[in-house]
Amino acid sequence: MQKRRLLLFDIDGTLINSGGAGVHALQVALFERYGIKDDLRDIEIAGRTDSGIVLQILQKYGTAPTDENVSAFLNDYIRLLALALPERNGRLLPGILELLKRLKESPHLVLALLTGNIARGAEMKLKHYGIWDFFEFGAFADDDRDRALLGGFAQARALAKHGREFLGADIDVIGDTPHDIACGKGINARTIAVATGSCSREQLAKHQPDFIFDDLSQVDAVMQQLGWRCD
Ligand SMILES: [Mg+2]
Repeated sequence: MQKRRLLLFDIDGTLINSGGAGVHALQVALFERYGIKDDLRDIEIAGRTDSGIVLQILQKYGTAPTDENVSAFLNDYIRLLALALPERNGRLLPGILELLKRLKESPHLVLALLTGNIARGAEMKLKHYGIWDFFEFGAFADDDRDRALLGGFAQARALAKHGREFLGADIDVIGDTPHDIACGKGINARTIAVATGSCSREQLAKHQPDFIFDDLSQVDAVMQQLGWRCD
């Protein structure tokens, strides 16, 4: 029997482009809570965890970065994200729906999430774009504010669900930022970068992922190159 392989997908810039719904929800949350208008351009968002982003925002405005303040802000963010998603011109990224359908046919591939979104936001975004059910489980910002540590949570969930350990060599981490690459390298996984988010191919190449794709639209070629066979 072919060995099982765990595929861990990032969300924003990798599976979907939310049309800025996430950032918009953060901006409105900041305005509602503190009366502050800020485009958040100086806050590092791509590749960071939601809780880490909120922490940066609170620190910027001298608000105590307590768990209570972070979770109150995140509750507002989720409520506002639900409003922003249908208003924004977001989309699934090229090839994603076909790729997920093809991968799901394979009994030896386990599809899961490895994302800086909090779980509620991940579910809301992926349900909005119709792909939530492709994924068995995930590691989220709820697990740790430090994205680099999320790989271990995904491995623990895979073990709990499948009763076997997935070592780094059995794992692919797919994402659009250097943080995804670092996260994958942190668990000795194969790292697959895709330039459909905020980083160019050249920027991603500096972080030496195992593979780089402009996008995942050439589904057959991508699957062949990565050995993601469906039989
Ligand atoms: Mg991303």
